[in-house]
Amino acid sequence: MIPKENEKIHRKNLAVCPDCDLVLRYREPEPGQRLCCPRCNCTLSAPVENSVEKTMALSLTGLFLFFPAIFLPLLTLDILGLESTGSIFSSARAMVESGFVFTGVAVFLTSIVIPFVKLLLLFLVSLQLYLSRGDISTVFMFKVYRRLDEWGMLEVYMIGILVTVIKLLHMAKIEYDVGFFCFIGLLSATLLSSSFLDENYYWKEIEENVKGADKRVSLKAAEALEEWL
Ligand SMILES: [Zn+2]
Repeated sequence: MIPKENEKIHRKNLAVCPDCDLVLRYREPEPGQRLCCPRCNCTLSAPVENSVEKTMALSLTGLFLFFPAIFLPLLTLDILGLESTGSIFSSARAMVESGFVFTGVAVFLTSIVIPFVKLLLLFLVSLQLYLSRGDISTVFMFKVYRRLDEWGMLEVYMIGILVTVIKLLHMAKIEYDVGFFCFIGLLSATLLSSSFLDENYYWKEIEENVKGADKRVSLKAAEALEEWL
């Protein structure tokens, strides 16, 4: 029979894989290490040093670059003396005006609205945690951010631009405008802010600092399992 003390130790630090539900013994990894599920290889924890500060700085950079990247012209195409230029906003509007309403609205949402809302929410949540002034809205904003995470598609738009450039390279003279460089900066800031975001740490900070957050609501599956055992 296992002694009571050992039993307690075995029940401590349990984690549940969010993808395949495997219950695991959990050990807090060091910054730079990555804890993966042995069954499905899902990342359970990947701590980042100074995650809040880095994420806040990058999301703020993204917000500064957002409006020039969306409203300034990206490329100027010169085909047989006919010049054509456009921004992300004007291309979405042109699609709607040409009758491609669904495509235009999809581009508008996934390339303009959602990336902006994501950056804004990430900045506000990071700022609140940095100042230790979180409230119940921090929980709401972080949940909305996570829901929107897969719907921002700036990188898909970038692939579209690259395909256009490659296809027209031999047919047209291409000039890269200010909006193009702002867009690359915006894309880099968005991708880096997501990669420096340590979600486990953010939830831990929210749980510890946010006044009014119901601890029972944030009870993890592994903690519930510990209670039941
Ligand atoms: Zn798994």
